[in-house]
Amino acid sequence: MSERLPAIFFGHGNPMNAVTTNPYTQAWQRIGGQITRPKAILSISAHWFVAGTGITVSTSPRTIHDFGGFPRELYQVRYPAPGDPDLALRVLKMLSPLPVELDDSWGLDHGTWSVLTHVYPNADVPVVQLSIDERQPGAFHFEVGKKLAPLREEGILIVGSGNLVHNLHAYAWGRHMPDPYDWAVRFEAEAKQRMLAGEYKSLINYERLGPEAILSVPTPDHYLPMLYVLGAWQQGERIQFPVEGVDGGSISMLAVQIG
Ligand code: ZN
Repeated sequence: MSERLPAIFFGHGNPMNAVTTNPYTQAWQRIGGQITRPKAILSISAHWFVAGTGITVSTSPRTIHDFGGFPRELYQVRYPAPGDPDLALRVLKMLSPLPVELDDSWGLDHGTWSVLTHVYPNADVPVVQLSIDERQPGAFHFEVGKKLAPLREEGILIVGSGNLVHNLHAYAWGRHMPDPYDWAVRFEAEAKQRMLAGEYKSLINYERLGPEAILSVPTPDHYLPMLYVLGAWQQGERIQFPVEGVDGGSISMLAVQIG
């Protein structure tokens, strides 16, 4: 049995982070250098948010450019990490009796590769993606994370990729960088405090955390990947925030590292 790997939630933010060097991407790179090198990565990305739980089984997952209106260089990015069908089958078994579809049509979406291209720039760690069932409540996603936790003992890095605060209506696209909105700062601070206190239940039922939560999480897709990571937490483990900051006023770039 190998040493237990951390589980990490990354705030991925703007897809342009894939081709940019900034304090966020530099911090992602540092994380790759600091943690034990995983045998493979299981990624839960905000951008595979569908009616069901699927897992990629391809041996060479394609790079998906799932966005519009970005510069050409972003469409040229390829992240040629191999897949890991054995890991996909292992996850299928672990989540049983939950039906999990072996999927060979998806690949790696930008939630996964815009971050991993900095964490593991050589794309030499196999990556499998697990979809987020859009029909299910927070508790379901937390429980799936819990069931996946033993993978951490097997050299697998569990990655969630989304954003704790993700309000694109309020986001300042372009060069003007406003101060973060008060509600974004307050919700992020409250969520951090609750994580450190182990109050996961309130984070699972985030809708009840008041108006700041509603503004910060107008749709669940970017928030839920964090619940998979929190679900993988083991008794006594510490939680740290290796990346912090709010981009464009309304996107939290917070990373949450368990273990
Ligand atoms: Zn996104």
